[in-house]
Amino acid sequence: MSYVITPASYSAVPVANNNEYNEQFPIHRIYCVGRNYAAHAREMGGSPEREPPFFFCKPADAIVPVPAGESIALAYPSETSNYHHEIELVVAIGKGGKNIPEKHAHDHIWGYAVGLDMTRRDLQTALREKGQPWELAKAFDQSAPIAPLYPVSRIGHPKAGSIWLKVNGEMRQAGRVEQMIWPVTEIISHLSRYFTLLPGDLIFTGTPSGVGPVIVGDTLLGGIDGLGEIAVHSIAA
Ligand code: MN
Repeated sequence: MSYVITPASYSAVPVANNNEYNEQFPIHRIYCVGRNYAAHAREMGGSPEREPPFFFCKPADAIVPVPAGESIALAYPSETSNYHHEIELVVAIGKGGKNIPEKHAHDHIWGYAVGLDMTRRDLQTALREKGQPWELAKAFDQSAPIAPLYPVSRIGHPKAGSIWLKVNGEMRQAGRVEQMIWPVTEIISHLSRYFTLLPGDLIFTGTPSGVGPVIVGDTLLGGIDGLGEIAVHSIAA
């Protein structure tokens, strides 16, 4: 038995370890939560009420690992003229499960990282108006840059702290992790009713308000208290 084409390789995120990235976390799936901060829900024209969370996915190979202290180039995506940044807390699942009760959700988390849910906002708006799926707007190449992963064994479970993003040195997004409408434990419990979570799954947990356009030449720097920073810059395709 042999493969008839060369199989794709696993995407992986390095584990934060004093810049010696000899440990990698392999990615299975990427789940994303929509509108999980009230101020962002309002800026997207939605209700800040506590409605059930909704989810979309990105392919595992949308990941762009960004080493600490480096800036990685992102090619401006095709077929958009309104490419947006969304800074997000990312949860890495280390132990799988389904129908996970909230009180056990923390047991399934391997670590946390800072990530970016890059978005073709013009397409997202058009697709939403037509009731069509969001893949073209959310699941494109390089749409999920992520900084090194911090293990729970080292940092515990961050429950509060600032989450922010600057474009060309100017603050654009500034929120607090504890402002999430659906906290991480509830997200895991809810998501695991619909999907069997497996080790290697990532969950992007939504973005605070202040999302906005990225143009060629822009530099983005974001961070979350206790999880370091992520830096990328936009280049022409
Ligand atoms: Mn998002």
